[in-house]
Order: sequence, then C-alpha cells, then structure tokens
Amino acid sequence: MPRDEKGLRTLSKVDNHIVYLDYAASTPLREVAKDALSAFYEEPCSVANPSSLHTLGREASQALEAARKSISQATQNAFKPSEVTFTGGGTEAINLAIFGILEGVKRQNPARTKVFISAFEHDAVFDLVSPLKRVGFDIITIPITNYGLVDLEFLEKNVDEKTALVCVMGANNETGIVQEVTTIAEIAHAKGAYLFCDCVQAFLKTDLPYESIDALAFAGHKIGAPKGIGAMLVKRGVPYAPQEFGGGQEGKRRPGTQNLPGAVALGKTVEYVFEKNDAIEREIERKVALVEAFLFADDTGILPSVSLEDAPTDGTAKENIKRVPGIVSAYVPGFHSETLILALDARGFAVSAASACTAGVAGGSRVLRAMGFSADDAASSLRISFDERASDDDLTAFCEALLEIVKILPKN
Ligand code: PLP
Repeated sequence: MPRDEKGLRTLSKVDNHIVYLDYAASTPLREVAKDALSAFYEEPCSVANPSSLHTLGREASQALEAARKSISQATQNAFKPSEVTFTGGGTEAINLAIFGILEGVKRQNPARTKVFISAFEHDAVFDLVSPLKRVGFDIITIPITNYGLVDLEFLEKNVDEKTALVCVMGANNETGIVQEVTTIAEIAHAKGAYLFCDCVQAFLKTDLPYESIDALAFAGHKIGAPKGIGAMLVKRGVPYAPQEFGGGQEGKRRPGTQNLPGAVALGKTVEYVFEKNDAIEREIERKVALVEAFLFADDTGILPSVSLEDAPTDGTAKENIKRVPGIVSAYVPGFHSETLILALDARGFAVSAASACTAGVAGGSRVLRAMGFSADDAASSLRISFDERASDDDLTAFCEALLEIVKILPKN
C-alpha cells in the first residue's frame, strides 16, 4: 500500500482516500466553518482582542456576541446569549459547569452534598467522581437499564432534599440513545436539585428540552465546527462559583482571551446545522438504514449492540426510545474490537471501538457493561459513526470490508 514520506498510509481501496467513519469522536470541518474562518481572517477586527476598547476590539467583541446569539437561538432561546460561556471544548465546559454549580450550591446550602451521575457518562464527567469526593460531595451512580436508559425509578426513589445536582448525558456517545431528560429534570427539580446535561453528542442531533435543563455543555468538533472550541450554558439563577481566575472575560467564568475565530466558526456552523437539521437528520437516517441492513442481515453474524427488542412496552414504550442519528453500534461476536479496528485501518477505514477512549481499556466499554454486557461482549463492539456527508459508496465499501474481515480473520 502506498505510504507518504513519514511512512503513513495515504491511499485506501475506495477512490484512493481513507474512509473516515468516526464522527462521534470528531467530525470533519464543515464547508460553512471553513468559509466562516477564511472570511473572518479577512476582517480587520480579526487582529484584535475582543476585550480591547478601540473600534477593532469592539468589532471583534460584536463577532463573539453574534456567535453567542446563534447558540442561544439553537436552544430556542431557552438559554440567553448572556448564559453562553465559550470554552476550549466539551471537557472544559463540563468541568467548569459541574464544579462551578456545585461550589455555588454549596455556598448557598452546604447540606446539599449529593451528586447523581449516571453509570454511562463519558469520562469527561465520570473522572470528576474522585475530585468531587475529595471536596466532600457524596456521589451516587445512577444505574442504566438493559436498553440504555437511565433508571428513572432509582432516581425517583433516591433524589432528595440533600441533592445538589443530577448529571445525565443528553445522548450516549457509544449507543446514541437519547435520555428522558424532561422526566429526569422533573425528578431533580421536585427536590430543588439542578440538572446538568453533557450534550456533546446530543446538541443539534435531537430535540432537547432546553427549558428543563439548568446547564449543559457541547463541543464544536462534534458538529463540524473546529476542534478546541465549545460552550458551557448555565441559566441565570443557577448558583455558580467561578473555577478559573485571571480576567473578566466570559462573565469571569472562563477568563483569558477567547478563541475568536473558533467561536465565529462555531456560531456559523450552529446556524447552518440548526437551519438544515431536518434534512440532515433524514439523510443520516437513510444512511444508517443502509449500513444496518448490510451489517445486521441474517447471515453476517454481526448484531446491533443496542437492540430495542427487549425494551419494555409499558411506561417507556419502545417507540419513545430514540437514538441520535449517525451512530451504529455493532457487536461482532468472537472478535476483539482492536483486532477489527486495525484490520479495517489497514484497508483504509477509520472507525472506533465502542468509543474512541475505550481503545485498550481492559473489559471493554464501561457503557456497554453498564447496560448488562459481559466484559468479553463489551470488548467486541465497533462504533461506526458518520453524518450526512458520508457517501453511500464509502459506507457500502466499509460494510463489505468488515464482512470480509469477519470471514477471513480467525476468532479470538
Ligand atoms: N462528552 C461526550 C459525550 C463526548 O462524546 C465527548 C467526546 O468524545 C466529550 C464529552 C469530550 O468532549 P471534548 O473532546 O470536546 O473535550
């Protein structure tokens, strides 16, 4: 296979390009973001610091405010522009939101020490458990049902007046399953607790009940905007104590000179995706159906990791269980996901295990294990993720390659 001067492979079997199907880890930059970046760098104010008083500084600040407004509009104005704080991405937004709100709550009411965190949160949330315990919070893990939803009965029974915060992701990064956020918010609010949602995978991919969410985080690079820019949204009235110090930017919540071009490109991307959302979603769903029909045909031996077959038919009707479009989680019995990823990579296809961060983790995906998978089964899942830009030819070529690999490679 041809290689470049650094020894990296340059071509794949499909039209001489690598087929990238790992959008849940990070998306290619959208044209709208590229255009916004190049247009912005032509603007005189692109040289300026948005905190400067002179004309260029004020213009830079206006560009930043326009991006804040676009984000607010994408939440149906449930979050005001002034409630949007630009950050360096999802993880920073999550850290600032959770620590900031908890310190704010603690100052108002030190008796509220309980924090509920669902068992399948991304590490950006889950890794806060130890530091939160160290500063005196009691962390309660919310179990997950076998069909990938937060256990509402558990929440109902256990959230009480000592609860400060409930943290549940809007949609899961491995299964794409969308959580019942409205009900979770009702349970939290009934006891005076707040709801934080990690919306890194959900933002602009499903209708979120923004009016019920007290705070959320998202990242530009999951929706086609540049990497290194994201936002924390916290409603006025939610107690918040700053976690970073050193300047007055972003309402003192995220001091330091902002990533102005990143924010501008983010704002334009949000506007574009928000406006085209229905058409984008329909196209992704068509492509997901194509991949699923191929991979999950009777004779392939590959199964969906997320089967809604066993979902309950009572309160939570199957048809109410939604997934964000564009994540196909495939369980390939007998194969370790790393083996498959490397074999696919050698043929020019880029996909992840259940999540990009799971690679190399013993026992496989924490998310799938929380849903009842054994360690072995959890280590045999692939996540194929894309948006409307993936071509049908690339998706078909990927499916053919995976089926061929499963036929010729020895099982574990
Ligand atoms: N939360 C979820 C659900 C994610 O999928 C990710 C990234 O994969 C993050 C948080 C972290 O976001 P970032 O990589 O922008 O810090």
